[in-house]
Amino acid sequence: MLSYRHSFHAGNHADVLKHIVQTLIIESLKEKEKPFLYLDTHAGAGCYQLTNAHATRTGEYLEGIARLWQQEEVPELILPYLEAVGELNASGELRYYPGSPLLAGKLLREQDSLVLTELHPTDFPLLRTEFSRDERARVSREDGFGQLKSKLPPPSRRGFALIDPPYELKQDYSAVVKGVVEGHKRFATGTYAIWYPVVHRQQIKRMLKELEATGIRKILQIELAVKPDSDQLGMTASGMIVINPPWKLESQMKSILPWLHKTLVPEGIGHTLVEWVVPE
Ligand code: SAM
Repeated sequence: MLSYRHSFHAGNHADVLKHIVQTLIIESLKEKEKPFLYLDTHAGAGCYQLTNAHATRTGEYLEGIARLWQQEEVPELILPYLEAVGELNASGELRYYPGSPLLAGKLLREQDSLVLTELHPTDFPLLRTEFSRDERARVSREDGFGQLKSKLPPPSRRGFALIDPPYELKQDYSAVVKGVVEGHKRFATGTYAIWYPVVHRQQIKRMLKELEATGIRKILQIELAVKPDSDQLGMTASGMIVINPPWKLESQMKSILPWLHKTLVPEGIGHTLVEWVVPE
């Protein structure tokens, strides 16, 4: 059962947070010349048209990337992310949004590599076409969680895995923890970033407890809520759980989040959080 299509949600507030964190991790890895692997376990289609029926039906990007796009002054740390979005929208009008693999493709250097997996029968061919001329990229229609076992450690012993499942299956929550354990066993120094939605807070608390119980250390939680927690249907917040974050990420996010929250949620509701789930 694969009913989730990211095209309905591309560029929403959760994508903005996820992709800013992704960009900061990649920019930190680029501080050393040595190549690194970017592993995107749940890659999606790669590029999204914001003017198509899916995006306009939900209008989610209007309360996400569109709110940043209109700003004249933005924190310097966000510039590499906005420049990558800008490259797709050279006319100045916001029409396209890069998914995580395309964003990574724009930020990575010649010596780096990408491993991208996607299962959806419609999104996989779109992703494959997007990267057909990129020799750094390996694109396959395989289970993303399994890649954490089969593709790690990278030969360069430097790498970053983005784990971004749709959570349409309840077992995705435990599959994330299992996948991270498998990856960490093989590649303990890698950076792992897990995206999560807050729909039912209890599910996230449970996933964090399971992660804590693994014994893995250096787990940082970053969250941006656009509404208070609720027992109604719908996502009120989203976050990233980052294992082995670059040392600057905590302070970078603490400096960015107040601005990001004010820009994405002008009504001033919700909250932000940067907190160690497990310290060093
Ligand atoms: N990472 C993308 C981005 O930020 O642009 C968005 C990914 S979207 C949230 C999740 C994707 O995972 C969907 O396109 C879905 O088809 C795909 N998917 C679901 N289960 C999967 C699995 N087990 N392995 C790989 N991809 C899967």
